Amino acid sequence: KSFADLGLSRPLAKACQVLGYTNPTPIQAACIPLAMAGRDICGSAVTGSGKTAAFGLPILERLLFRDKRVAATYVLVLTPVRELAVQVHSMITKLAQFTDIQAALVVGGLSLQAQATVLRTNPEIVVATPGRMIDHLRNTQSVGLEDLTVLVLDEADRLLEMGFAEEIREVVKQTPSQRQTMLFSATMTEEVKRLADLSLRQPVRLAA
Ligand code: AMP
Repeated sequence: KSFADLGLSRPLAKACQVLGYTNPTPIQAACIPLAMAGRDICGSAVTGSGKTAAFGLPILERLLFRDKRVAATYVLVLTPVRELAVQVHSMITKLAQFTDIQAALVVGGLSLQAQATVLRTNPEIVVATPGRMIDHLRNTQSVGLEDLTVLVLDEADRLLEMGFAEEIREVVKQTPSQRQTMLFSATMTEEVKRLADLSLRQPVRLAA
């Protein structure tokens, strides 16, 4: 199977070509069609498996067909640490290079007010660490999650190890229940399974 067989729209197929992606990785081949069909995903996948594009491409595909009259944050990707958020944001920006879709980076160590200014422009995608995301939801109120259509919990085991269970619950509570959710984790611990039960609806389980 090649990327062309996955039914991605032209701007996304072109980005894959420019990035030198000819064949999807196993997690991409499994995840992309199911995620494009709107299914919730529970994926066992480590960094290096190609998981960022596995969730990034179906998200971008869905956003291409959004109602552009509604400016809102439609997608939130939560990652455990700043370095991972930077990588995911960079990858999504590259995949979106031939579209009009904007992705914002929301992490600690950068000016809260500068981020709030960006968030008020309603970027379609926000890639964030939980602590800083909560800070914006509670304090700057520059972003709302009432129109969220896709939530990604990336490296869920590390999110929990870092003590973000409460922050994740608070974020999930502010999102519409009919959202699509994708959870990825290197390990499926009991804690991760509990988070999956809390956040996913009839997920497809995938292993890379
Ligand atoms: P990730 O697991 O998402 O961190 O991706 C690991 C690396 O693999 C990144 O540098 C990606 O650019 C690259 N990559 C992702 N998908 C593919 C693909 N289908 N073909 C070649 N490289 C890829």
